Amino acid sequence: MAAAKPVISAEALKKRLERFARLSLADLPTPLLDCPRLSEKLGGPRILVKREDLTGMAFGGNKVREFEYSVAPAIREGYDVLLHGAASQSNQSRLTAAMAARFGLKAVMVGRKDAHSHPVNGNLLLDHLFGAEVHLVDRPDEKTQVVERLKAEGQRVYNTSTDGYYLRSISYVDGFLELWEQLQARGIRPDGLYVCSGVHTHVGLVVGARALGLPLRVVGISPSPQDDEEDAANLARVANKVAEMLALDLSFIGEDFESYGAYAGDAYGTLTDASREAVVLAARTEALILDPVYTGKAFGAMLQHIREGQWKPGQTVVFVHTGGTPALFAYADELLDPGPSHPVHAGTYREPKAG
Ligand SMILES: *Cc1c(COP(=O)(O)O)cnc(C)c1O
Repeated sequence: MAAAKPVISAEALKKRLERFARLSLADLPTPLLDCPRLSEKLGGPRILVKREDLTGMAFGGNKVREFEYSVAPAIREGYDVLLHGAASQSNQSRLTAAMAARFGLKAVMVGRKDAHSHPVNGNLLLDHLFGAEVHLVDRPDEKTQVVERLKAEGQRVYNTSTDGYYLRSISYVDGFLELWEQLQARGIRPDGLYVCSGVHTHVGLVVGARALGLPLRVVGISPSPQDDEEDAANLARVANKVAEMLALDLSFIGEDFESYGAYAGDAYGTLTDASREAVVLAARTEALILDPVYTGKAFGAMLQHIREGQWKPGQTVVFVHTGGTPALFAYADELLDPGPSHPVHAGTYREPKAG
């Protein structure tokens, strides 16, 4: 991407971010990890990982940073219920439940009855642990019924997906500034960023980079199949709104966004071979834990691009680790290749006889 002129300094952008109400939830700054064994193994670029999985609260992830901004209005304005509806292993549901526990609100999760809702494990287990009212449903209209019942009871319901929507991207303008500061302090000029994102993290990073005029390729990997062109147009729409909220003289079009749905597999939440390989490789080279649904797919895409020669030794790529690791445990059976050393075959252990 060609260099463009900065429209604001990092210091001034930080000041603009202070105009927004913000909760203090995350342990910041999150670490920036070097992956020398992985780089060497691939014979590729230098790889760094921005550890947004270590934002701290309730097993961390990008939602902790997002919620500092996006849930602040719910707390300030005295809402009663934090609501979220998604897949049964949703990280956002986990953090919605954790937030409600932390602030003494009621949490209502409307999860899908899907391939990873039984047995109760991973994020779903944590939803229960945080005291959320959990509904597992077969059809979307059952979610509407739950919401209508809450409203009829006179509860003020804050939906963490749709309320505070743009603030979630604002949080990753902040995340970008934090990352940039860390890179500068270490004298590193990255050539590319990889991130798994539906919308918010990707948009925030791109708005941050463009605001500072940085020539940086930001590759977004969608956790769901999509029409890439349509998605890019939507990301540009959100970015324009975010730029307006920050009073930045920037405008975006679809071509400003590189977002791929091809790495998601058949549907959201399905494990792909590339994701499994990424999860295993990151664990065995850097003791880095990815998840099968989000970061494994984005990391797998990055590995593929490196192997295709899109990134070369001498270049630097930053992988933004958005979290999601609790879901790993709900995918145990699919993640391990059931070869002879697989634990399912290991049921014959006997304590040696004493004496
Ligand atoms: C929610 C989530 C994402 C996508 O987040 P956006 O807000 O769409 O950017 C990526 N990775 C993980 C682990 C998530 O939980």
